[in-house]
Amino acid sequence: MALNPVLGKLVSKRVVLASASPRRQEILANVGLRFEVVPSWFKETLEKSSFAAPYEYAMETAKQKALEVANRMHIKHLRTPDVVIGADTIVTVDEQILEKPVDKQDAYRMLSKDKAGGYGIQALGGMLVEYVHGDFLNVVGFPLNHFCKKLAELYYPPLKHNIQHKKYDSIPSVDTFENLSDGESESSNSTEHKDASKLDSSGMYSSEAIYNSETSSSVRTGFMVPLENQNGVSESAAKSPSKILELMDGFRASKALFVASKLKIFDHLKDKGPLKAVNIANEIGTSVCGTERLLDACAALGLLEKTTQGYSNTDSANTYLTSDGEYSLYGYIIHSNDHLWPLFTNLESAVKEGSRQNHRAFGKKADDLFKDYYHSQEVTQRFMAAMHSIAHLTAKDVATAFDLSQFKSACDLGGCTGALAHELVRIYPNLKVTVFDLPEVIANTSYFQPSGQHTAPVTFVSGDFFKDSLPEADLYILSRVLHDWPDEKIHLLLSKISALCKPGSALLVAEIVLDEQKTHPPRAVLQSLSMTEGKQRSGSEYKQLLEKYGFTNVQIKITGNLLDAVLCIKKNLSF
Ligand code: SAM
Repeated sequence: MALNPVLGKLVSKRVVLASASPRRQEILANVGLRFEVVPSWFKETLEKSSFAAPYEYAMETAKQKALEVANRMHIKHLRTPDVVIGADTIVTVDEQILEKPVDKQDAYRMLSKDKAGGYGIQALGGMLVEYVHGDFLNVVGFPLNHFCKKLAELYYPPLKHNIQHKKYDSIPSVDTFENLSDGESESSNSTEHKDASKLDSSGMYSSEAIYNSETSSSVRTGFMVPLENQNGVSESAAKSPSKILELMDGFRASKALFVASKLKIFDHLKDKGPLKAVNIANEIGTSVCGTERLLDACAALGLLEKTTQGYSNTDSANTYLTSDGEYSLYGYIIHSNDHLWPLFTNLESAVKEGSRQNHRAFGKKADDLFKDYYHSQEVTQRFMAAMHSIAHLTAKDVATAFDLSQFKSACDLGGCTGALAHELVRIYPNLKVTVFDLPEVIANTSYFQPSGQHTAPVTFVSGDFFKDSLPEADLYILSRVLHDWPDEKIHLLLSKISALCKPGSALLVAEIVLDEQKTHPPRAVLQSLSMTEGKQRSGSEYKQLLEKYGFTNVQIKITGNLLDAVLCIKKNLSF
């Protein structure tokens, strides 16, 4: 029997196993299936007596587990899964469902009464089993055979004439894998499963693999939620407004991330084993119930892992969310919470009035975007940390977007903490970079200097690039500066730079370059919402703008990182 053609259908799909069971994970991993584990939070509290047969209870529980994960993942800011696999196990004696053993004594009681449940057949428990009727793996933890058959039904529908006389809502049945293998086939004696298999309109379930040890039997069921039909069209997209729901709930997700970061939850969990909510709450001085909810939300968002031992950081939380990590986004997250969130709360007024909403958000009108902002050292440093986190992440791609080795001196106007400057001198050892920024910023740069790096080629000069004279250089840099300002200010700045540029001098601009429709990437388009004075530009708009100020040979490099790069040189000179 060749399983590959069936499982191969899942290679490019995002498959999620809605179960924490190591056995189920092992069985699926052993056949080469790649999947993520998102344990279901569905509580196994369905009323058993309301089901006509025990297997129906197991089936419904498996289905609800899978649906809970499928629905939860829809509202996460992550790619929605294509297939969610749920499973449930029950043990029955004389058509009565046995509950799970609560402790060792209970397991002993169960074992002595009925010789089933409460043990692992793959280990010593196997000594108790006289024979198995059905799929051995089903007893171990997952009905692999039945699962593959159901996969086959999903991805290899039978010919039309088969469908006509079968009562299926959506998925036709195949009894063997014959039609899937490359000529390799094996007959199946699964007639008994035909009757036991039932389908419903939202997906599929199976019940099978009954093993007997005299009077006892175990029923395991698997439930798969397929989120895509045969034509690759997302059925769930047609049935549920998942994208809209994701956007609707986006603010909850953002705020959960912001608050967890502010409370330094990711710092507390770094390098520690799993911690319980109560321990974390005690450490950070918060309520246990509130902390538990927040931790669960972070687990739902894929920021934390939750096991019976407690919560721990995911790899990406360790890399990006701890405050001292090399690629920490902590600074930008705090800036988003403290500065951008209040501004976005007033978005409706911003749209109606066509102006920034600083007065509503912070109680005062901002005359100069930055000078008003840097009213305290704490706020200045917070802003610098935000800029630093993004600059540090993007510096290498910006610095290497073009070969800048011919330049000897550069001036990074509005260069803030010097993150890009340091990367430039690291990559181009012959380059000296002057970071030019407002005095409030320059006064705080020492907090952000790289340790262990020879910092001499980077110098800091304070001044106002609209009013003061600018340092001389043969490469000028404007990283995330142009998008902040209205046309008249840009005119002032670019005229000044252009006038200073000597033959062979160049200007490097680092910004997010929009597509020509100006709807992509969404991140840049959304950023525009909070800054009505400036704007994001497309490639052709940057070209037009720079040529207007005497720059030529405008080259644009989409880096794939958070910032793109534009390089141009002064007219009449070749680069
Ligand atoms: N270039 C940095 C980066 O990409 O991470 C920082 C970008 S931040 C959006 C804009 C920078 O311009 C801030 O560091 C700010 O202090 C600086 N800036 C704003 N107005 C300025 C002015 N009039 N003169 C000099 N620098 C200014």
